[in-house]
Amino acid sequence: MNRKIEILNDLTINKIAAGEVIEAPHSVVKELVENSIDAGASMVTLEIKEGGKKYIRVTDNGIGIGEEYVERAFMRHSTSKITDIGDLSNIDSLGFRGEALASIAAVSRIKMITRTKNQDYGILLEVMGGVIKTREKTGCPTGTTVIVENLFFNTPARLKFMKSNSAETAEVSKIIARLSLSNPGISFGYINNNNAIFTTPGNSMLSQAIVSVFDKDTFKNLIPLESNESNIKLWGYIGQPNFVRGNRNLQIIYVNGRYVKSRLISKVVEEAYKEKVVINKHPVCVLNLDVDPSEIDVNVHPSKVEIKFEKEEQVQKFVYKSIAKALEENTIMPKLFPRVLQGFNNSGGIEKKGNVAGDILINEACDNYVQKSNVAEKGQFVDKQDRDNENWVQVSDTYEDTVQSSFLDTLLDQYKIIGQIFDTYIILEKGQSFYLIDQHAAHERLIYNKFLEEIKNEKVISQRLVQPKILELSNEDYILLSENMGSFIKMGFHIEEFGMNSVIIRETPMILGKPRDFSFIYEILDETRDDSNVAGYFEDAIIKKACRKAIKANDKLDYCEMKQLVEELHTLTPPLTCPHGRPIILVMRQYDIEKHFKRIQ
Ligand code: ADP
Ligand code: MG
Repeated sequence: MNRKIEILNDLTINKIAAGEVIEAPHSVVKELVENSIDAGASMVTLEIKEGGKKYIRVTDNGIGIGEEYVERAFMRHSTSKITDIGDLSNIDSLGFRGEALASIAAVSRIKMITRTKNQDYGILLEVMGGVIKTREKTGCPTGTTVIVENLFFNTPARLKFMKSNSAETAEVSKIIARLSLSNPGISFGYINNNNAIFTTPGNSMLSQAIVSVFDKDTFKNLIPLESNESNIKLWGYIGQPNFVRGNRNLQIIYVNGRYVKSRLISKVVEEAYKEKVVINKHPVCVLNLDVDPSEIDVNVHPSKVEIKFEKEEQVQKFVYKSIAKALEENTIMPKLFPRVLQGFNNSGGIEKKGNVAGDILINEACDNYVQKSNVAEKGQFVDKQDRDNENWVQVSDTYEDTVQSSFLDTLLDQYKIIGQIFDTYIILEKGQSFYLIDQHAAHERLIYNKFLEEIKNEKVISQRLVQPKILELSNEDYILLSENMGSFIKMGFHIEEFGMNSVIIRETPMILGKPRDFSFIYEILDETRDDSNVAGYFEDAIIKKACRKAIKANDKLDYCEMKQLVEELHTLTPPLTCPHGRPIILVMRQYDIEKHFKRIQ
């Protein structure tokens, strides 16, 4: 029997959040590909031309539409996925509004060829601007092909607002990448202007889908994560703390298989990375959150990317814990000269076509050095499809980097301090690697952690300055500081009002030694002027700035001082970064060195 498509009743229609609008080629792509996924396809091919403005084709091998329902599929509020409001609370399909095909058909020329396995012929239906032009029987395989041409030909206003081909392609690439990654059990093919961009294997392995959609270098920078708690599960990949990008485009989050933009989750992800990535950079992730469907509301917004959780707090805590734990256990050492040489080796094969989805998503994803290797390795995308298996082997083969937690666990066993360079970096030899430690970053992290601990335990010890320091402030700063005096006192500063908009500092926290200068107080006031009412922010700013000022710049360290610093690293938990997110330690393996000297290939 063919699956029934019916028009929803008014009550249900009224319950569904306002109708969706087809606003650009990427929205067409999203709707068509989601329909293919809902149709149970195991293979979906997307082809676009000129950013999808001229041509979009989606072909699937799903269940198809029975001949008696083909026209109905194009009517408003017609769907096979829900029948009444009761179903709204338990949606397991991506679509449910029954509006997409109708909306697309109204503003384009759309052709559908579809066949169910019960019929030995298919139906071809052609609709132009909402009017049926052709309907005929046709021979075709089981499944559905939809071709959308000349989008917005009859709505000049929207036509005018379409972006350049490359900008629209970028949007489409994002959509198909997200859908491919949330359905690793489906093999997705993506073709742009006759170039094969990627094909995912469809073998249910997220890792291999990531390698196909992006590339193996990106994959190498990801940490696997899997975490369970009674009725909630988080799984997928998160980026190494040093693999960051300038925006949040590569934070891909799914809830129950549906791509969402959840401010709540994004915020928790960033929170878990706080102090571990450099300021103004954003971590990357491909994460699936599975929760009881009755505990979310997907009906918030027609574009369906926003979501509401019933148990927000549980979700927040769980996600935070899971990420923090994965980071602690799996952060690898940033490499000194990562993979640059490999790039040189492959430079003959630089590709013109490139991997559009990968390009767009990754280009900014890879900061400085990683980027280099990406560009050089693009050649590998040409015949990448039949090399995916090989890629995969390489990925697992070379995944033997130094994990920070195990490095710290065995740090004290056997290490050799080679010395110090530029009065700033300590060189350490250990096992088959050598390490460069930024002594200032390390020192800053150490005193910062100790200071926090003391504050937490209310055990801050102060020391009296031999020469009290007088600070002159503007009236505005003076008021701000007076209002926040409590925070300074809590941290072991003794500051008093000294008349005429000035204050006198008599004591500072012992742990800071003697801060070199007190300009940090001006800096804190500058920074917090607008945020001073945010609880905790002021104190955090004081701690960070004060620790910074306590660090000595360009100091020659003797062996004992170096040894002490190195051994104190042992007390830290990964990732090893200073409180501002910069790395403390870099590694270079003997293997890399020998490769660079061409002793080994
Ligand atoms: P919705 O997906 O919200 O139900 P659509 O307008 O996208 O609404 O599609 C209407 C109906 O057409 C779907 O419910 C489904 O029954 C049918 N349909 C659309 N695309 C496909 C497809 N690729 N394969 C099988 N059936 C499809
Ligand atoms: Mg749909």
